[in-house]
Amino acid sequence: MQSYLSHLECTNCGKIFSAAEIHTTCPDCGKVLFARYDLDSARKHFSRDTILKRPGNMWRWFEIMPVRDERNVVSLGEGATPLLHARKLGAPFGAAQLFIKEEGLNPTGSFKARGLSAAVSKAQELGVRAIGMPSAGNAGAALAAYGARAGMTIYVFMPEDTPEIMKIEGRVFGANVYLVKGLINDAGKIVRENAGARGWFDVSTLKEPYRAEGKKTMGLELAEHFDWALPDAILYPTGGGTGIVGMWKAFDELEALGWIGSQRPKMISVQAEGCAPIVKAFHDGARHAPLWENAHTLAPGIRVPIAIADYLMLDAMRASGGTGVLVSDSEIVEALREVARVEGIFCAPEGAATYVGYKKLIASGFLKPEERVVLFNTGSGLLTPELVRGEFPILDPRDPELAQKIK
Ligand SMILES: *Cc1c(COP(=O)(O)O)cnc(C)c1O
Ligand SMILES: [Zn+2]
Repeated sequence: MQSYLSHLECTNCGKIFSAAEIHTTCPDCGKVLFARYDLDSARKHFSRDTILKRPGNMWRWFEIMPVRDERNVVSLGEGATPLLHARKLGAPFGAAQLFIKEEGLNPTGSFKARGLSAAVSKAQELGVRAIGMPSAGNAGAALAAYGARAGMTIYVFMPEDTPEIMKIEGRVFGANVYLVKGLINDAGKIVRENAGARGWFDVSTLKEPYRAEGKKTMGLELAEHFDWALPDAILYPTGGGTGIVGMWKAFDELEALGWIGSQRPKMISVQAEGCAPIVKAFHDGARHAPLWENAHTLAPGIRVPIAIADYLMLDAMRASGGTGVLVSDSEIVEALREVARVEGIFCAPEGAATYVGYKKLIASGFLKPEERVVLFNTGSGLLTPELVRGEFPILDPRDPELAQKIK
């Protein structure tokens, strides 16, 4: 397999940089760098059928992935997750085309595996030995796992109140895990201020070009699932935005390869009432989203008060005719229980949030029941059992009244 990676390009000032060197953000303007491919050559040398013959994981898209030498790929079997038809969930709305992309099946229990598999693989290829990263939880767990597999030294900084299992994953995979008083942006400051002196490669969300390349494979998979068409709308629980940005990029690359047309899904950002910088900026007509003060929500992955890629997300939402929608914590927990009961899918709170968003947009008329819609369940509910914890009846087999106690 051959990658058609050609260079890095700044999404803001357009300057070009070598993809054979280590880069984080644009050295000139500080904005997000994208990996670019020679898609003209790629389209002559590789076809949709080539992809479909390969094993089902995200590296089957090797020609448009950023690693040059296959031996540098650090994989735990991420990607190629199921797209589940949510027939019963859609039925009350007359929606026969509602789907859930089940990312909870990825290694370490969330779609962060895709981004970190790509970033750690490319870092390996560029000779990186130590990585530092702030995380709301899942990214840290994934980085720790891929870092272990690559034999790298990993430093992860998470908010103090990160769900327990995500801290434990970090530790069990041998990463140096530190808890930070504050949120992911406070943790990010620690990484920024220490990376240079410590020799860490900083893989903060969209502050290096390759995590987004892993996330873009979600968009590639949607096109494949729908037989090289795209759905009418995608609802995405938005934190740093790698998923929206990555999928949007994937669609352009697929069109340049001639594999899909110009139709695009409405890109819909779902955020929590207590932390909604992107949704607010969208409705305010702004292209940048200032820091959200006192951010709070029980969904850790979307508790991200500021995002460097705000302009890329907002551009995609606007260009696609998408929107932004707000959900409350209590609506998230209620939806999490409902999706589990009705479809047998134990969502992360972030995933459940997209179903709340769907119901609101159907009610407002923004989405029509006949539209084909994909909700992203970005992680496994198994990682946050405290959200639905409760008491169970305890039976004593010697109890003569046992039978009456079973309803
Ligand atoms: C990180 C995360 C998100 C947000 O993803 P971005 O692509 O960074 O916006 C959503 N859900 C879960 C479970 C996450 O871990
Ligand atoms: Zn630039």
